[in-house]
Amino acid sequence: MSNNVPHYMIIGGGITGLSAAFYLEKLMTETEVSGGAPFRISVVEKSPSFGGKIHTIERDGFVIEKGPDSFLARKRPIIDLAYDLGMENELTGTNPKAKKTYIVRGRKLHRMPPGLVLGIPTQMTPFMKTGLISPLGKLRAAMDLIKPKRDVTDDESLGHFLERRLGKEVLERIVEPLLAGIYAGDTYKLSLKSTFPQFRAMEQKNRSLILGMMASRKNVTEESAHLPAAVRNSVFVTFKRGLESLVTGLVDAMRTTVDLRTGVSVVSVCSVDGGQTEVVFEDGQRELVDGVIVTTPTYQAARLLSELPAANKLAKIDYISVANVIMSFDRKDIPFELDASGFLVPKHEGYTITACTLTSAKWLHAAPEGKVLLRCYIGRSGEQEWPAWSDEQLISKARHDIADLLGITAEPGFVEVTRLMHSMPQYPVGHLEAIADFKKELTAAMPRVLVTGAGFHGVGLPDCIRQGKEAANQLAGLVQT
Ligand code: FAD
Repeated sequence: MSNNVPHYMIIGGGITGLSAAFYLEKLMTETEVSGGAPFRISVVEKSPSFGGKIHTIERDGFVIEKGPDSFLARKRPIIDLAYDLGMENELTGTNPKAKKTYIVRGRKLHRMPPGLVLGIPTQMTPFMKTGLISPLGKLRAAMDLIKPKRDVTDDESLGHFLERRLGKEVLERIVEPLLAGIYAGDTYKLSLKSTFPQFRAMEQKNRSLILGMMASRKNVTEESAHLPAAVRNSVFVTFKRGLESLVTGLVDAMRTTVDLRTGVSVVSVCSVDGGQTEVVFEDGQRELVDGVIVTTPTYQAARLLSELPAANKLAKIDYISVANVIMSFDRKDIPFELDASGFLVPKHEGYTITACTLTSAKWLHAAPEGKVLLRCYIGRSGEQEWPAWSDEQLISKARHDIADLLGITAEPGFVEVTRLMHSMPQYPVGHLEAIADFKKELTAAMPRVLVTGAGFHGVGLPDCIRQGKEAANQLAGLVQT
């Protein structure tokens, strides 16, 4: 390509980066943005394949997710992307016969009371009957209905907010283990504004979190109107051939229009005279580009942009490491009915695993007939000693826990261990302000360099796609002006 052709570079080929490239290419081909002039878009990814945290494998007829396994159906950007790629018929929902979830308490599995949304009760009768919470704990949670709202606009921790509204027992025994699946974090350190701003909005609008959550449930039918009929009744949705098929769909859609490079690591992004940006690669190569979207984890982005003093604000965002141990079994080795999607393990219950998904019960496409797939999760904030353990130790601890809790003692058919080091960003209290400060400094120094992705404004796959799309819109807007 000629040096005169504007060149835009996306750094990081996870779901955020690929979505950014896909939507930027779409926007740039619209003549009102590019004026019909040629342009070039590159995605540079340091690992040998695209997808970032998303990684599906197929083994012996099983569809195995090593990273994320599904997404919230009501969040539009990923469904819109599936439609944009012509993949909407590949979406699949959870097994309607395995809707139960359990929580461990006192070495036993207790059914999670129906009607909990993100751990907040929306049906009081099942909540009042649960053995998970003491009578005093239930009374304390019900006080949410009468407690006044707090008139503050400052950020606070998710844990302090939930303890203030529902009490410590509900927080520790239900909400925290549920939210641990999303952030693996310490709720007393996570920012309310950056993780669940809707909780604060509910308190402000309805005074009570429970009443606010009940009111929001009324919109559920409206929220699912955009879904293909086959998945309309499912809270969680995935792709029949696994989430990596979305990555493949994106890569295939861009194969002839975008310069897609893997095995290429960027070491710095610097401003140069003349308004261009210099991207420096690990092998010493340099490229001058006309716009950049950085979508790496924030600790990497901080390194790439270290010429900015505010980069230290990005470097301070902590990431938790997690592992999962996936095991296959014969159905005959499972001594119970497979009518649940899995169970959660609160802290201080004396187990290593933080949760277990009965994957083949939750997703009917995940295992061949007569086989069962289980996935055990390890690692969360305050439980970060596991990276020093060998795979054999991880497997043995996971097997000990499922033997104790589920009575499964059979030898697994196969085991897959996945280590996801520094993979779960922990938005600290004040996160939004710190990010805004960083972006202000970045815009002043490098107006056509944008940063986005899971470390910024939402970790879920739909949030990452939304952020990628927003960055594409922003860059297209900057290019046009
Ligand atoms: P990443 O996927 O981290 O992609 C960033 C990319 O940048 C990587 O590919 C990396 O190799 C590349 N990179 C880094 N440095 C450089 C460099 N210097 N040069 C070039 N490239 C670089 N979300 C859900 O919605 N549902 C779930 O079920 C779910 N489960 C999860 C389970 C686990 C175990 C984890 C870890 C996350 C889960 N998430 C889930 C969250 C979701 O998967 C992630 O937030 C999302 O995939 C992050 O996408 P991303 O593109 O922002 O970042």
